[in-house]
Amino acid sequence: MQNNKEKNDLIIKDFPEPVDSFRAAFLPDRCNLCGKVIVHNTVICPDCRKNAKVIRGERCLFCGRTKNDCECKGRSNFYDGVVAPFVYEGVVRQSIARWKFHDAERNVNFFADMMIAAMKGAYDDIKFDVITFIPQTHKETKDRSYNQSEQLALTLGNKMHIPVKSLLVKLYETERQRNLSFIKRSGNVFGVFDCCNRKMTDGKTILLIDDVKTSGKSLNECAKMLHLYGAAKVYCAVIAVV
Ligand SMILES: [Zn+2]
Ligand SMILES: [Zn+2]
Repeated sequence: MQNNKEKNDLIIKDFPEPVDSFRAAFLPDRCNLCGKVIVHNTVICPDCRKNAKVIRGERCLFCGRTKNDCECKGRSNFYDGVVAPFVYEGVVRQSIARWKFHDAERNVNFFADMMIAAMKGAYDDIKFDVITFIPQTHKETKDRSYNQSEQLALTLGNKMHIPVKSLLVKLYETERQRNLSFIKRSGNVFGVFDCCNRKMTDGKTILLIDDVKTSGKSLNECAKMLHLYGAAKVYCAVIAVV
């Protein structure tokens, strides 16, 4: 694992760039995690600041948790690293589940800023050629109104000035990974993804985005396909890891 040199003191910063200043003048700011009205130009409420489990300090790039919480036990993956700002529990878990019922645009900005902060240190020396995301089938995107991973990727692309490309397709529908037992998750995604843009994959260093990493099977399966189609490196970033 390369450059795990970071001293990651991830802090949740207030006063982000306003998403829409006209709108902000009329609507109250809401906590990006619980949705409560908060003081203008802050990003989360005091309770969430206390309760959200932020991943700080030295990270394990295989599972995304801190070195102290790592449960990898030498398991290897097809991806070259995974980084997340949060642990998937409590208010963070609820916030991701409720995403589209709140202010999705503001949420996606907040989560993208936190992911960028988490990538500092861990991915500093890496030059990404392209950002891509875990795909959904057309029906899944229709049922869920949109693909959260794609929205995150697009926002990150804007902020990091890296092109965002759809490099993967999902061939058929699956049960949501987070609803399945650990044993069932691997079989659930095996052979489900394919690479759809070999030109943008071959020889490239890719940042692969998802909203949540549970077992890591989806990220792993997608990273495997990207490597099969010639990707040089595949690094992952998610909002939260289990
Ligand atoms: Zn809150
Ligand atoms: Zn680990």
